[in-house]
Amino acid sequence: MPRQLASIQRIADIQPIAGADLIALAKVKGWQVVVKKNEYQAGDLTIYCEIDSLLPVREEFEFLRKSSYKSYDNVEGFRLRTIKLRGQLSQGLLLPLSTLQGKMDADALNGLQEGDDVTDILGVVKYEPPISAALSGIIKGEFPGFIPKTDEERVQNLSAQYEGLKEQRFYVTEKLDGASVTYYYRDGGFGVCSRNLELVESHSNSLWLAAYALGLPEKIGSFGNIALQGELVGEKVQGNPYRIQGQKVYFFNAFHIDTQRYFTYDELTALCRELGLLTVPVISDDFALPETIDAMLLYAEGKSMVHGPADREGVVVRSHDRKVSFKAISNNFLLKHEN
Ligand code: ATP
Ligand code: MN
Repeated sequence: MPRQLASIQRIADIQPIAGADLIALAKVKGWQVVVKKNEYQAGDLTIYCEIDSLLPVREEFEFLRKSSYKSYDNVEGFRLRTIKLRGQLSQGLLLPLSTLQGKMDADALNGLQEGDDVTDILGVVKYEPPISAALSGIIKGEFPGFIPKTDEERVQNLSAQYEGLKEQRFYVTEKLDGASVTYYYRDGGFGVCSRNLELVESHSNSLWLAAYALGLPEKIGSFGNIALQGELVGEKVQGNPYRIQGQKVYFFNAFHIDTQRYFTYDELTALCRELGLLTVPVISDDFALPETIDAMLLYAEGKSMVHGPADREGVVVRSHDRKVSFKAISNNFLLKHEN
């Protein structure tokens, strides 16, 4: 599912900020956003735009120019990122429903409900930092329809479900900051995909080179029609925060294509051991959810298991059967590294 960047949400709570006369702190789902004082009340229905939204250059968003203007490739817009205002974390943007006037008819506007997606109506797209040619490769086609793309929901969007998940035990892995890669074998053919596309075979593309180095084209077919998904990290990837020589892939998913089923944690671990592949670092394999989403976010902070001095980007939390899976990104990482 594409990410719902802009949606209709109810403000759960508004609190004053000590020493600040003009601004206040709004809570929306598990997110916290700094707003102008008295602009909204708790319980108001508003538009919430998540971090990573790129808002279009239009009159109504010009107030963002100074803080948020970005242009790259052929794209320009106002990018929402994690910031601190008066010492308070602020993520995303609240807009009044009236922003949608003129963009939809009056009946539709009056009928808007909590959870409705307004990303396209507002012209919001996802901010995607440009990546190098060695990583992006040459496009062979769309991402195969028989494999799910790698993706993780953010814990802040799970406020409605969080309480109910506490009965379960989870395993937690370190979320690595690299490039997503999917390798698959299906009916005699081997394929390599980046996050969103399948790539033409190449001896200069990093994702293909890693496949050769791991012997995957020869090896994975012995497991039938499967996909393996991991994160490529190392030189020339995201500034190589882990100071790795060359490049490495840490795997986090295996998927049976014929039965459309993910491997469980135990199956994935066994498969990687057999193929001589690394898995993403396991922080805990018997994890109970912290009391609150905020506490889960604090847990996400820490140092990397791959390279001690580096901050970790965050964690991915999963049930052993892999039916539940979400990420908690370190807010300090976002403040420090996403500029
Ligand atoms: P967003 O969904 O927030 O817009 P995004 O889709 O670009 O961001 P990320 O924030 O990078 O994705 O989070 C999901 C990605 O995390 C997966 O696609 C995967 O490549 C990567 N990843 C890194 N480490 C892990 C891990 N330990 N477990 C699962 N996925 C991981
Ligand atoms: Mn995503």
